[in-house]
Amino acid sequence: MIEKFNHATVVGAGTMGNGIAHVFAQSGYTVDLVDVSQNALDKAWATISANLDRQIKKETLKAEDKAGILGRIRTRTTISPFDPQTGIAIEAATENYELKLKIFRELDAAAPEGCILATNTSSISITQIAAATRRPAAVVGMHFMNPVPVMKLVEVIKGYETTDAVMEQILALSRDLGKEPVAVNDYPGFVANRILMPMINEAIYTLYEGVADRDAIDTVMKLGMAHPMGPLTLADFIGLDVCLAILRVLYEGFGNPKYAPCPLLVNMVAAGNLGRKSGKGFYEYK
Ligand code: NAD
Repeated sequence: MIEKFNHATVVGAGTMGNGIAHVFAQSGYTVDLVDVSQNALDKAWATISANLDRQIKKETLKAEDKAGILGRIRTRTTISPFDPQTGIAIEAATENYELKLKIFRELDAAAPEGCILATNTSSISITQIAAATRRPAAVVGMHFMNPVPVMKLVEVIKGYETTDAVMEQILALSRDLGKEPVAVNDYPGFVANRILMPMINEAIYTLYEGVADRDAIDTVMKLGMAHPMGPLTLADFIGLDVCLAILRVLYEGFGNPKYAPCPLLVNMVAAGNLGRKSGKGFYEYK
């Protein structure tokens, strides 16, 4: 374990990866942001810049600090050559089991001894990812929430082999990033998605069975439960493909039919209606 470091690598520059790079760079870390897609890197850069502008407008960031933050983020399309100063690598690539194993094997081979390997996975077993490496004691879940620069929670997930020392270091690091970490154990869906996804799935079933229409379902949960957004709006925001993938992990992980994804969700994903990111889900987006 590297005690003091100020260099992080983030793998995956999509919705979550750009936010993770943003908070690390804003907290003074130098960040290597890696994505196989140059287009994703260009988009990530533009998003971080726009989000920093929003912070400046809200007076939570000084305008003169923006260039320094952006200057600490270096983008590239391959994991190697890996900077030997790196104390942590956080993987935030597409939610796919085989892909994550491949990335972790590559990170394990490239990262210096003592570098912690973290994953932002929403649902894939930390223990299984760790088992693909030669350093399972230093593999941990670091589950940020979307949008990362705004949301306070980090769910820190202890894999079967993760040491207490690594957990302590990630909890401290999360606080250093201005977040509020919560430690949980590695079971399907951890805590956040084990509770959230069945609620979203039930909202989709409620629509599918014609109990109420889209707006009625969202309004009941917003006004009745004081949720900031309804479950169908939230599902669109998260991405319907991501919701489906998490429900499948819960269904297979527990072997319990109560987690079976609603057929309407399966159909919408098959049709490419993925929510906000594809322009259409339960709602339409310009
Ligand atoms: P996304 O689709 O927006 O971005 C994924 C990125 O990974 C893409 O830019 C893609 O090009 C890149 N990628 C694919 N293969 C790669 C590889 N081999 N090396 C490097 N980059 C690669 O996905 P996202 O929503 O940012 O989700 C990323 C991770 O975060 C997933 O594990 C997801 O479950 C988790 N997560 C998502 C949310 C959410 O609300 N979207 C919340 C918490 C956690």
